[in-house]
Amino acid sequence: MGREVRVLFQPQPSPESPEGKRRFKNLLDAAGITPQLVAIPSRPATVEELARLHDRAYISRIKELSDGPGGDAGEETPFGRGGYEIALLAAGGAMNAVAAVLAGTVDNAYALVRPPGHHAEHDLGRGYCIFANTALAAKHAQLDHGLRRVAIVDWDVHHGNGTEHAFYNDPSVLTISLHQDDCYPPGSGLVGEIGEGRGIGANLNIPLPAGGGRVPYELAFTDVVLPALERFQPELILIASGLDANRYDINARMDLTAEDYRALTHLMMDAAERLCSGRLVIIHEGGYSDMYTPYCGLRIVETLSGLDSGVPDGTIGGPSSTKLWDHERAAVAAAAANVPKVPTP
Ligand SMILES: [Zn+2]
Repeated sequence: MGREVRVLFQPQPSPESPEGKRRFKNLLDAAGITPQLVAIPSRPATVEELARLHDRAYISRIKELSDGPGGDAGEETPFGRGGYEIALLAAGGAMNAVAAVLAGTVDNAYALVRPPGHHAEHDLGRGYCIFANTALAAKHAQLDHGLRRVAIVDWDVHHGNGTEHAFYNDPSVLTISLHQDDCYPPGSGLVGEIGEGRGIGANLNIPLPAGGGRVPYELAFTDVVLPALERFQPELILIASGLDANRYDINARMDLTAEDYRALTHLMMDAAERLCSGRLVIIHEGGYSDMYTPYCGLRIVETLSGLDSGVPDGTIGGPSSTKLWDHERAAVAAAAANVPKVPTP
Protein backbone atom coordinates (compact mmCIF):
# COMPACT_ATOMS: atom_id res chain seq x y z
CA MET A 1 0.00 0.00 0.00
CA GLY A 2 1.39 3.37 -1.00
CA ARG A 3 0.94 6.47 1.06
CA GLU A 4 0.58 9.88 -0.59
CA VAL A 5 3.15 12.30 0.75
CA ARG A 6 2.84 16.02 0.14
CA VAL A 7 5.73 18.30 0.93
CA LEU A 8 5.31 22.04 0.92
CA PHE A 9 8.56 23.35 -0.48
CA GLN A 10 9.87 26.65 -1.76
CA PRO A 11 7.89 27.26 -4.99
CA GLN A 12 9.61 27.88 -8.30
CA PRO A 13 8.23 29.46 -11.47
CA SER A 14 7.20 27.17 -14.33
CA PRO A 15 9.99 26.64 -16.89
CA GLU A 16 7.55 28.05 -19.48
CA SER A 17 7.48 31.72 -18.60
CA PRO A 18 7.60 35.00 -20.48
CA GLU A 19 11.21 35.52 -19.48
CA GLY A 20 12.97 33.54 -22.23
CA LYS A 21 10.86 35.26 -24.87
CA ARG A 22 11.38 38.70 -23.30
CA ARG A 23 15.13 38.16 -23.20
CA PHE A 24 15.07 36.99 -26.86
CA LYS A 25 13.38 40.27 -27.86
CA ASN A 26 15.68 42.30 -25.60
CA LEU A 27 18.74 40.68 -27.19
CA LEU A 28 17.44 41.56 -30.67
CA ASP A 29 17.06 45.15 -29.41
CA ALA A 30 20.49 45.26 -27.76
CA ALA A 31 22.15 43.76 -30.85
CA GLY A 32 20.64 46.48 -33.03
CA ILE A 33 18.60 44.01 -35.10
CA THR A 34 15.03 45.06 -34.20
CA PRO A 35 15.02 48.48 -35.95
CA GLN A 36 16.07 46.79 -39.19
CA LEU A 37 13.13 44.37 -39.14
CA VAL A 38 9.49 44.81 -40.14
CA ALA A 39 7.23 44.45 -37.10
CA ILE A 40 4.13 42.32 -37.70
CA PRO A 41 1.45 43.13 -35.11
CA SER A 42 -0.43 40.24 -33.54
CA ARG A 43 -4.20 39.90 -33.23
CA PRO A 44 -6.46 37.57 -31.25
CA ALA A 45 -7.41 34.42 -33.13
CA THR A 46 -11.18 34.03 -33.43
CA VAL A 47 -13.11 31.14 -31.93
CA GLU A 48 -14.03 30.08 -35.47
CA GLU A 49 -10.34 29.86 -36.36
CA LEU A 50 -9.54 27.85 -33.21
CA ALA A 51 -12.48 25.53 -33.91
CA ARG A 52 -10.81 24.45 -37.14
CA LEU A 53 -8.67 22.20 -34.96
CA HIS A 54 -10.06 22.43 -31.42
CA ASP A 55 -13.19 21.20 -29.68
CA ARG A 56 -15.58 24.08 -28.90
CA ALA A 57 -16.24 22.84 -25.37
CA TYR A 58 -12.48 22.84 -24.75
CA ILE A 59 -12.18 26.42 -26.03
CA SER A 60 -15.04 27.51 -23.73
CA ARG A 61 -13.48 25.73 -20.75
CA ILE A 62 -10.18 27.60 -21.22
CA LYS A 63 -12.05 30.91 -21.42
CA GLU A 64 -14.06 30.17 -18.27
CA LEU A 65 -10.95 29.24 -16.29
CA SER A 66 -9.14 32.29 -17.64
CA ASP A 67 -11.99 34.60 -16.63
CA GLY A 68 -11.57 33.18 -13.13
CA PRO A 69 -8.31 32.53 -11.34
CA GLY A 70 -6.87 30.36 -14.13
CA GLY A 71 -6.27 26.63 -14.04
CA ASP A 72 -4.74 23.82 -16.05
CA ALA A 73 -5.63 23.24 -19.70
CA GLY A 74 -4.99 19.52 -19.27
CA GLU A 75 -1.58 18.06 -18.60
CA GLU A 76 1.20 20.32 -17.31
CA THR A 77 -0.38 23.38 -18.89
CA PRO A 78 -1.04 25.83 -16.07
CA PHE A 79 -2.17 29.35 -16.87
CA GLY A 80 -3.36 32.33 -14.90
CA ARG A 81 -6.18 34.80 -15.19
CA GLY A 82 -6.22 36.22 -18.73
CA GLY A 83 -4.24 33.27 -20.12
CA TYR A 84 -6.96 32.69 -22.74
CA GLU A 85 -6.45 36.13 -24.29
CA ILE A 86 -2.68 35.59 -24.36
CA ALA A 87 -3.14 32.22 -26.07
CA LEU A 88 -5.44 33.88 -28.65
CA LEU A 89 -2.67 36.39 -29.42
CA ALA A 90 -0.14 33.58 -29.86
CA ALA A 91 -2.32 31.79 -32.42
CA GLY A 92 -3.28 35.07 -34.12
CA GLY A 93 0.36 36.19 -34.22
CA ALA A 94 1.37 32.99 -36.01
CA MET A 95 -1.45 33.50 -38.52
CA ASN A 96 -0.52 37.15 -39.09
CA ALA A 97 3.07 36.11 -39.79
CA VAL A 98 1.80 33.70 -42.45
CA ALA A 99 -0.45 36.39 -43.92
CA ALA A 100 2.45 38.86 -44.13
CA VAL A 101 4.70 36.39 -45.93
CA LEU A 102 1.94 35.34 -48.35
CA ALA A 103 1.14 39.00 -49.05
CA GLY A 104 4.81 39.65 -49.79
CA THR A 105 5.00 42.37 -47.12
CA VAL A 106 8.08 40.55 -45.78
CA ASP A 107 10.36 37.88 -47.27
CA ASN A 108 10.03 35.54 -44.29
CA ALA A 109 9.02 35.86 -40.64
CA TYR A 110 9.74 34.78 -37.08
CA ALA A 111 6.64 34.72 -34.86
CA LEU A 112 7.91 35.21 -31.31
CA VAL A 113 4.79 34.05 -29.49
CA ARG A 114 3.83 32.27 -26.28
CA PRO A 115 2.43 30.01 -24.97
CA PRO A 116 3.76 27.36 -27.35
CA GLY A 117 1.35 25.17 -29.30
CA HIS A 118 2.70 21.95 -30.78
CA HIS A 119 1.67 19.67 -27.89
CA ALA A 120 -1.92 20.99 -27.78
CA GLU A 121 -4.46 18.35 -28.79
CA HIS A 122 -8.00 18.72 -30.16
CA ASP A 123 -9.55 18.89 -26.69
CA LEU A 124 -6.62 18.90 -24.29
CA GLY A 125 -3.75 21.20 -23.39
CA ARG A 126 -0.43 19.42 -22.94
CA GLY A 127 3.14 20.44 -22.20
CA TYR A 128 2.50 24.19 -21.67
CA CYS A 129 0.54 24.34 -24.98
CA ILE A 130 -3.07 25.57 -25.04
CA PHE A 131 -3.88 26.12 -28.73
CA ALA A 132 -2.03 24.64 -31.72
CA ASN A 133 -0.43 27.85 -33.05
CA THR A 134 1.65 26.34 -35.85
CA ALA A 135 -1.02 23.89 -37.02
CA LEU A 136 -3.61 26.70 -36.95
CA ALA A 137 -1.25 28.82 -39.07
CA ALA A 138 -1.15 26.01 -41.64
CA LYS A 139 -4.96 25.88 -41.65
CA HIS A 140 -5.04 29.66 -42.07
CA ALA A 141 -2.77 29.41 -45.13
CA GLN A 142 -5.06 26.80 -46.67
CA LEU A 143 -8.52 28.09 -45.78
CA ASP A 144 -7.96 31.86 -45.93
CA HIS A 145 -5.23 32.10 -48.58
CA GLY A 146 -6.05 29.14 -50.81
CA LEU A 147 -2.79 27.22 -50.45
CA ARG A 148 -3.10 23.52 -51.12
CA ARG A 149 0.16 22.08 -49.77
CA VAL A 150 1.86 23.22 -46.57
CA ALA A 151 4.83 21.61 -44.83
CA ILE A 152 5.58 21.89 -41.11
CA VAL A 153 9.09 21.08 -39.89
CA ASP A 154 9.15 20.84 -36.10
CA TRP A 155 12.67 21.18 -34.67
CA ASP A 156 11.50 21.57 -31.09
CA VAL A 157 13.33 18.93 -29.05
CA HIS A 158 10.02 17.38 -28.01
CA HIS A 159 7.64 15.50 -30.29
CA GLY A 160 5.05 17.67 -32.04
CA ASN A 161 2.21 15.33 -31.05
CA GLY A 162 -0.58 17.88 -31.45
CA THR A 163 0.57 18.87 -34.94
CA GLU A 164 0.91 15.22 -35.89
CA HIS A 165 -2.63 14.41 -34.73
CA ALA A 166 -4.15 17.51 -36.38
CA PHE A 167 -3.10 16.30 -39.83
CA TYR A 168 -2.69 12.54 -39.35
CA ASN A 169 -5.30 11.74 -42.03
CA ASP A 170 -4.52 14.75 -44.19
CA PRO A 171 -2.18 14.43 -47.18
CA SER A 172 -2.22 18.19 -47.81
CA VAL A 173 -0.03 19.04 -44.79
CA LEU A 174 3.34 17.32 -44.46
CA THR A 175 4.36 17.17 -40.80
CA ILE A 176 7.95 16.34 -39.87
CA SER A 177 9.12 16.24 -36.26
CA LEU A 178 12.75 15.99 -35.18
CA HIS A 179 12.94 15.27 -31.46
CA GLN A 180 14.88 13.61 -28.70
CA ASP A 181 13.74 9.99 -28.65
CA ASP A 182 11.07 9.29 -26.02
CA CYS A 183 11.41 12.61 -24.20
CA TYR A 184 7.99 14.32 -24.12
CA PRO A 185 5.27 13.20 -24.40
CA PRO A 186 6.50 9.81 -23.17
CA GLY A 187 6.27 7.11 -25.84
CA SER A 188 5.20 9.63 -28.51
CA GLY A 189 6.81 10.34 -31.89
CA LEU A 190 7.85 6.88 -33.00
CA VAL A 191 9.51 6.49 -36.37
CA GLY A 192 6.77 4.08 -37.50
CA GLU A 193 4.00 6.69 -37.09
CA ILE A 194 3.65 7.89 -40.68
CA GLY A 195 -0.01 8.93 -40.88
CA GLU A 196 -3.14 6.95 -41.63
CA GLY A 197 -5.76 6.67 -44.34
CA ARG A 198 -5.20 9.26 -47.03
CA GLY A 199 -2.51 10.79 -44.82
CA ILE A 200 -0.14 7.83 -44.99
CA GLY A 201 3.37 9.09 -45.66
CA ALA A 202 2.54 12.70 -44.79
CA ASN A 203 3.85 12.42 -41.22
CA LEU A 204 7.51 11.75 -40.53
CA ASN A 205 9.09 11.33 -37.12
CA ILE A 206 12.83 11.54 -36.63
CA PRO A 207 13.51 10.47 -33.04
CA LEU A 208 17.18 11.18 -32.31
CA PRO A 209 19.19 9.62 -29.48
CA ALA A 210 19.88 11.95 -26.55
CA GLY A 211 23.15 13.88 -26.65
CA GLY A 212 23.30 14.65 -30.36
CA GLY A 213 24.44 17.97 -31.77
CA ARG A 214 24.97 19.44 -35.20
CA VAL A 215 26.20 16.29 -36.97
CA PRO A 216 23.13 14.05 -36.45
CA TYR A 217 20.83 17.02 -36.99
CA GLU A 218 22.45 17.92 -40.31
CA LEU A 219 22.32 14.29 -41.38
CA ALA A 220 18.61 14.20 -40.51
CA PHE A 221 18.07 17.28 -42.66
CA THR A 222 20.04 16.06 -45.67
CA ASP A 223 18.70 12.47 -45.57
CA VAL A 224 15.12 13.02 -44.40
CA VAL A 225 13.80 16.58 -44.13
CA LEU A 226 15.10 18.00 -47.42
CA PRO A 227 14.27 14.98 -49.64
CA ALA A 228 10.81 14.78 -48.03
CA LEU A 229 10.19 18.45 -48.83
CA GLU A 230 11.41 17.91 -52.40
CA ARG A 231 8.90 15.10 -52.86
CA PHE A 232 6.04 16.98 -51.24
CA GLN A 233 6.56 20.29 -53.11
CA PRO A 234 5.00 22.60 -50.48
CA GLU A 235 3.76 26.08 -51.29
CA LEU A 236 4.76 27.30 -47.83
CA ILE A 237 7.10 25.96 -45.14
CA LEU A 238 6.42 26.51 -41.45
CA ILE A 239 8.91 25.69 -38.73
CA ALA A 240 7.69 24.84 -35.23
CA SER A 241 10.72 26.45 -33.67
CA GLY A 242 11.45 25.07 -30.25
CA LEU A 243 14.91 26.21 -29.20
CA ASP A 244 15.08 23.56 -26.50
CA ALA A 245 17.46 21.25 -28.39
CA ASN A 246 20.23 23.57 -27.21
CA ARG A 247 22.84 22.24 -24.81
CA TYR A 248 21.66 24.28 -21.85
CA ASP A 249 17.98 23.38 -21.91
CA ILE A 250 16.56 22.04 -18.67
CA ASN A 251 13.79 20.03 -20.36
CA ALA A 252 15.90 17.91 -22.74
CA ARG A 253 19.37 16.53 -23.38
CA MET A 254 20.53 17.52 -26.86
CA ASP A 255 23.63 19.54 -27.78
CA LEU A 256 22.84 22.20 -30.39
CA THR A 257 24.52 25.59 -30.20
CA ALA A 258 23.31 28.92 -31.52
CA GLU A 259 25.61 28.49 -34.54
CA ASP A 260 23.92 25.16 -35.25
CA TYR A 261 20.54 26.90 -35.37
CA ARG A 262 22.06 29.30 -37.88
CA ALA A 263 23.14 26.37 -40.05
CA LEU A 264 19.74 24.68 -39.86
CA THR A 265 18.00 27.96 -40.72
CA HIS A 266 20.21 28.26 -43.82
CA LEU A 267 19.20 24.78 -44.92
CA MET A 268 15.52 25.63 -44.53
CA MET A 269 15.86 28.97 -46.33
CA ASP A 270 17.58 27.24 -49.26
CA ALA A 271 14.79 24.65 -49.40
CA ALA A 272 12.11 27.35 -49.28
CA GLU A 273 13.89 29.26 -52.05
CA ARG A 274 14.01 26.18 -54.27
CA LEU A 275 10.49 24.96 -53.56
CA CYS A 276 8.18 27.85 -52.70
CA SER A 277 9.64 31.25 -53.61
CA GLY A 278 11.34 31.52 -50.22
CA ARG A 279 8.07 31.44 -48.25
CA LEU A 280 9.20 30.48 -44.76
CA VAL A 281 7.53 31.27 -41.43
CA ILE A 282 9.23 30.26 -38.19
CA ILE A 283 6.92 30.05 -35.18
CA HIS A 284 8.34 29.99 -31.67
CA GLU A 285 7.62 26.90 -29.55
CA GLY A 286 9.70 25.70 -26.57
CA GLY A 287 13.01 26.86 -25.13
CA TYR A 288 13.61 26.85 -21.39
CA SER A 289 17.14 28.11 -20.92
CA ASP A 290 16.43 31.78 -20.30
CA MET A 291 20.18 32.33 -20.51
CA TYR A 292 20.88 30.69 -23.89
CA THR A 293 17.59 30.50 -25.83
CA PRO A 294 17.88 34.20 -26.82
CA TYR A 295 21.25 33.58 -28.52
CA CYS A 296 19.79 30.71 -30.56
CA GLY A 297 16.90 32.96 -31.57
CA LEU A 298 19.28 35.80 -32.45
CA ARG A 299 21.20 33.55 -34.86
CA ILE A 300 17.95 32.44 -36.53
CA VAL A 301 16.67 35.99 -36.97
CA GLU A 302 20.08 37.17 -38.22
CA THR A 303 20.01 34.41 -40.82
CA LEU A 304 16.43 35.10 -41.91
CA SER A 305 17.15 38.81 -42.29
CA GLY A 306 20.67 38.58 -43.69
CA LEU A 307 21.95 40.74 -40.83
CA ASP A 308 24.99 40.05 -38.67
CA SER A 309 25.10 41.69 -35.26
CA GLY A 310 28.59 40.41 -34.45
CA VAL A 311 27.34 39.54 -30.96
CA PRO A 312 29.13 36.40 -29.69
CA ASP A 313 26.76 33.59 -28.81
CA GLY A 314 27.80 32.95 -25.22
CA THR A 315 28.46 29.21 -25.66
CA ILE A 316 30.72 27.50 -23.20
CA GLY A 317 32.50 24.38 -24.44
CA GLY A 318 32.89 25.18 -28.10
CA PRO A 319 31.05 23.63 -31.01
CA SER A 320 29.08 20.40 -30.63
CA SER A 321 30.85 17.11 -31.34
CA THR A 322 31.85 16.31 -34.92
CA LYS A 323 31.43 12.59 -34.26
CA LEU A 324 28.53 10.62 -35.67
CA TRP A 325 27.67 7.63 -33.51
CA ASP A 326 26.35 4.41 -35.05
CA HIS A 327 23.11 4.68 -33.09
CA GLU A 328 22.60 8.20 -34.45
CA ARG A 329 23.24 7.02 -38.01
CA ALA A 330 20.79 4.15 -37.52
CA ALA A 331 18.09 6.48 -36.16
CA VAL A 332 18.34 8.76 -39.18
CA ALA A 333 18.40 5.79 -41.59
CA ALA A 334 15.20 4.42 -40.05
CA ALA A 335 13.45 7.75 -40.63
CA ALA A 336 14.90 8.09 -44.15
CA ALA A 337 13.27 4.76 -45.08
CA ASN A 338 9.88 6.51 -44.85
CA VAL A 339 10.73 9.32 -47.28
CA PRO A 340 9.61 7.37 -50.41
CA LYS A 341 6.11 7.22 -48.86
CA VAL A 342 5.74 11.02 -48.74
CA PRO A 343 2.90 12.01 -51.08
CA THR A 344 3.82 13.86 -54.26
CA PRO A 345 1.57 16.48 -55.89
ZN1 LIG B 1 9.86 21.53 -26.52
